[in-house]
Amino acid sequence: QTEQDWQWDKTVCRFCGTGCGLMLATKDGRVVAQKGDVENPVNRGWQCVKGYFNAKIMYGQDRLTQPLMRMKDGQFHKEGNFVPVSWEQAFDEMERQLRKTYAEKGPEGIACFGSGQWTVQEGYAMNKLFKAGFRSNNLDPNARNCMASAVVGFYSVFGTDEPAGTYDDIEHTDTMILWGSNMAEMHTVLWSRIMNRRMGNPDVRVVNLTTFRNMSSDGADLEIIFKPNTDLAIQNYIAREIIARDAVNWDFVNKHCIFATGPSDIGYGLRPDKEYAFPAEQDIIAKELKVTLDKYEAIGQRRKEGEVVEQNSRGSAGAHWSISFEDYKKALEPYTLEFVAELAKGDDSESLDDFKAKLQQLADLYIDANRKVVSFWTMGFNQHQRGSWVNQQVYANHLLLGKQSQPGNGAFSLTGQPTACGTAREVGTFAHRLPADRLIGNPAHREFTETHWKLPAKTINPKPGSFYGKIMRDLEDGSVTWAWVQVNNPWHTHPNANHWIKAAREKDNFIIVSEAYPGISAKVADLILPVAMIFEKWGAYGNAERRTQHWREQVPPPGVARGDLWQILEFSKRFTVGDFWGEQPVPGLKAAGYEDGKLPSILAEAAEKGYSPDDNLYEVLFATADNRTYAWPDPVAKGRDNHTVNLLGDGWFVEKALWQEYVHFGRGVGKDLADFDVYHRDDVRGLRWPVVDGKEGTWRFNEQYDPYVTEGAGFEFYGKLAKAIPSGDLDGVTDATPAPLPGKAKIFFRPYAAPVEQPDANYDLWFSTGRVLEHWHSGTMTRRVPELHRAVPAAVLWMHPEDARERGLQRNDLVWLESRRGKVQIRVETTGRNTMPKGTCYAPFFDEGVFINKVCIDAACPISKESDYKKCAVKVYKV
Ligand code: SF4
Repeated sequence: QTEQDWQWDKTVCRFCGTGCGLMLATKDGRVVAQKGDVENPVNRGWQCVKGYFNAKIMYGQDRLTQPLMRMKDGQFHKEGNFVPVSWEQAFDEMERQLRKTYAEKGPEGIACFGSGQWTVQEGYAMNKLFKAGFRSNNLDPNARNCMASAVVGFYSVFGTDEPAGTYDDIEHTDTMILWGSNMAEMHTVLWSRIMNRRMGNPDVRVVNLTTFRNMSSDGADLEIIFKPNTDLAIQNYIAREIIARDAVNWDFVNKHCIFATGPSDIGYGLRPDKEYAFPAEQDIIAKELKVTLDKYEAIGQRRKEGEVVEQNSRGSAGAHWSISFEDYKKALEPYTLEFVAELAKGDDSESLDDFKAKLQQLADLYIDANRKVVSFWTMGFNQHQRGSWVNQQVYANHLLLGKQSQPGNGAFSLTGQPTACGTAREVGTFAHRLPADRLIGNPAHREFTETHWKLPAKTINPKPGSFYGKIMRDLEDGSVTWAWVQVNNPWHTHPNANHWIKAAREKDNFIIVSEAYPGISAKVADLILPVAMIFEKWGAYGNAERRTQHWREQVPPPGVARGDLWQILEFSKRFTVGDFWGEQPVPGLKAAGYEDGKLPSILAEAAEKGYSPDDNLYEVLFATADNRTYAWPDPVAKGRDNHTVNLLGDGWFVEKALWQEYVHFGRGVGKDLADFDVYHRDDVRGLRWPVVDGKEGTWRFNEQYDPYVTEGAGFEFYGKLAKAIPSGDLDGVTDATPAPLPGKAKIFFRPYAAPVEQPDANYDLWFSTGRVLEHWHSGTMTRRVPELHRAVPAAVLWMHPEDARERGLQRNDLVWLESRRGKVQIRVETTGRNTMPKGTCYAPFFDEGVFINKVCIDAACPISKESDYKKCAVKVYKV
C-alpha cells in the first residue's frame, strides 16, 4: 500500500474534553493511519500519547460484535450464561422486560445511565425517547460524576451554564493557576500550550495547587500542596486578602455583581450509612477546627428574621440569598493567613512559614493589577463534597478583581469527557434538564420543548428524574427494575462499587449495557448490545471551550455491532404512542400542579394534534424531524447479517435531521449552533458557540466578543438569557436556580466544611483516585491498545516512602488497600510520576483488576449530587 491510496478525513479525538482534531486515513474499510490535525486551532497538530492510539482502540481482540444475552434452556434467564443472540431476539427481550416494568411501575420504573461521551445526536435521541416517548426523566449521564458541580457554579453565579473563556486565554494571560487539576496528564495538549506560553515568556507564572506532587508540578513556578478539602479555606483566604489589600475592583463589582450566600447545614448528599456517621458540619468546624462561625451564622439568623434582599429558591440545597458587602467581609474574617495555613498545609516536610509564604505569593499573583489570571480546574473541585461551593468561590475571586470574561482573565472550568459540554449539558441529558439550559421543573421550558417537538401539551413528566447515584439506589430498592447503559461503565466507575453491583445483580432487575468491550458493567448486564465506536459512526462532540466539532463515519463496525443512535431509534420502533401516553402512576406530582399520584393521559391532546394511539413511537418522535421522513439503514429488517451498507451514503441525513431539529433550542438564547453542513465544510474545524451571523463567539458576557451583551453594558452576566429562560423549581435535585437578575453575577461566600470521612486511628491515610495519562477512564478501550497497556499495565498505589516503611512495606510489595467499604490488592509505588506527602496515597481507577471504586466513598455534593472521589480514609497493609 502507498499513502496515495489512503483517504484522509478530519475527525476528533475520542478521549478528553480538550477536543483535539485528528486526521484519519482509511483504506479498504480499515483505519490505516492517523495524525494530529495541524489545521485544528485546539491542538495545531499535537496529540498526547492516548490520542496517538485513537484508531487502535477499535481493533482489540475481544471486541463485542454480536448481542449477548443471559440464557438458559433457550430463553432469557437472570442466572444464565451469555449466549449470542440476534438483534431481533435482543430487542424482543428488552421490549418484553420494559413492558413488564412499565405496567407495574410506570415511567418511574425505568432508567438510563447516559454519557458525556455520547455524540450530540445520540444524547439528543435518548433524551427525546425517554422524556417525551417513555415520559420518564430517569436519564442521567456519567457527567453527573464529572462536572455537575461546575454546572451548579455556572448557573448560580451567571444564570447560565458553560465556560466564558476560550483556550486562547492561555496565549493571552500572564498567570495560570491550576486548582487540583493535573493538566500535564489529563489535558495534555492544553498543558503543552501552557508550557509553550511559559517557556517563551519569562514573566508568565504557573501555579500548581494539589494534594500531592504530580507531573504538572514539573512545569510550575509555584507548587502548593494542601490538605484534601481545604481548597475551600484557601479560596476564602484569597478573597479576604483582596479586601484587606483594598484590591476590589469596585467599578466592576458595583456594575456587574451582587453578594450572596446560602445555608451552611446542607448535609452530604447521601443516605446515612451504618458504617460511618455523618456528623453535623458545624460540629466539626466548631470542635475540630475551632473556627467561630458566629458572624456567618448571624447572617443566616437575619435571613430567618426576614432581612432578605432576594430569595432565589424555595429552600432546596441550592437555596441562596443576597447579602451586603459588609456581611460578606465579616464572613471572611476567620480566614486569616495563620488560620488557613495551619488548616491547609499538606506536606509535613514543609515549614508553616514556607507554606504561609506560598499562600501569600498566590494571593499576590491574583491581586497584582498588572497581571492577567486564568484559574483552571476539573475534578479536584468538582468531585468534592462541597463541589458546588468551591466552584462558586473561584468565580468570587475573579469577580472581586474584575478579572473575568476577558482575553487572558477568567475562571475556566475544564471538562474531563469529550462532550460533557456538548452532549450532557447543551443537550440537557441530565434528569432535571431539557436542551439549551431549560429545566424539567419549569412549566414554560416544558411547553417550549413540547411545542418544538410537535407533541401534545403535558407530554413531559414535570417531576425531575433520579440522578446517577439515585438510580443506583433505585435499582437496589426495586423502584427501578429496567435500566439501559450507553457509552458508560457505571458499575466500574461509581464509588462504593461492590455495594451497587450486588444491588444490581441480586434484584429482579433487567440491565442492558451497550458496549464495545466486556468491562465490569457488561458483566453486570443481562443483555449486552455491541456498539459501533467513534470512527464507525457519524457524530458531534462539544469541548470545554464551547467548540462543536462534527465528524463522518470512516469505517464499518465489526460483526453486527451498531451505533448507539441506531440502537435507540430501532428500539423505539417497537412501540406505539398509546403504550406510554395514557395515565401513568407517578407519585409526588402535586407540587407541579398535577393530581397527586398520576401523570395525566395526553391521548386527547394527541388526537387534537392528529396522532392516534396506534401511531408508531419512532415515527412520531424521530421520523418527522426537520419535517423530513427518513429511513435508517436497517440490517435487521433487510435480513443482512453484516454491515454491508456504507453509511457515508445512507446515514448522514438521519444525523443531519436530528441536528437541525436540535439547534433550534439554542438559537436566540445565547447557545446558537450552526447548521450541520457548516461543520462538515473542509475549512471548518469546529465552531465555538454562540455562532451568530456566521461568526463564532469567544469571550462570553463581554460586549466586545459576545453578541448577546446589551450595547453599552460592557459586561452583562446574561440578563437576556435569564429573561428568556425564567428560573424554575428544581425540586432540590440539582443546580441552584438561574438568577432573575438584571445581568449581574453573584459573588458567593461559602464557609470551609470538613469532609464526612477523615483519617482516624483505624483508617489512617487519606486516599484519592483519578486517571493516568495513558488510560481513559475505566480502561476498556485503552487497555486494548498494546502500546498503552505495556506503558501502564496495572494500577499502583503511590505512597510516601516513610508511610510504606512504617508499615513494613517497600516498593512493589503487594498490599491490601482497605476502607470501610471494601478492599483491593495493589502494588506499592514510592517513586515515579507522583510524590505523595506523608499521610496521603493515590491510585488510578482504570484497572479492572484493581477495582479502586470498591474503596471510594459514595459521599456527594448535596447540591450537584456529584460523587467525591478525591478523599476518603483508608488503611494499607501487607497481603
Ligand atoms: Fe487531545 Fe485529550 Fe485526545 Fe490527548 S486525550 S489527544 S489531549 S483530546
